[in-house]
Amino acid sequence: MKLSELIECPFCGHDEFMMYGKPVGQVKYRQKFNGTVSHRNTDIYKDIKIEYTKTYCANCGRYLGNHKTDECSQRVKQALGIRKII
Ligand SMILES: [Zn+2]
Repeated sequence: MKLSELIECPFCGHDEFMMYGKPVGQVKYRQKFNGTVSHRNTDIYKDIKIEYTKTYCANCGRYLGNHKTDECSQRVKQALGIRKII
């Protein structure tokens, strides 16, 4: 099962998750030689992308899987397997 196919946390049933991401890219910051900041710095973050990886339940905090690879954690797979038996 893929992480994106989850409809709730398999541990507590909560309907919300959170992802941790890191910024990837470069910032172009302009400054004048006299020490003042350039007014052209309004879009310095436009080339920054957020790369999300680890996904956790927003309620119980348990690790659910990797957003980038769309894989569920082993514990999620085990939890879903247990549910099917019950
Ligand atoms: Zn949970």
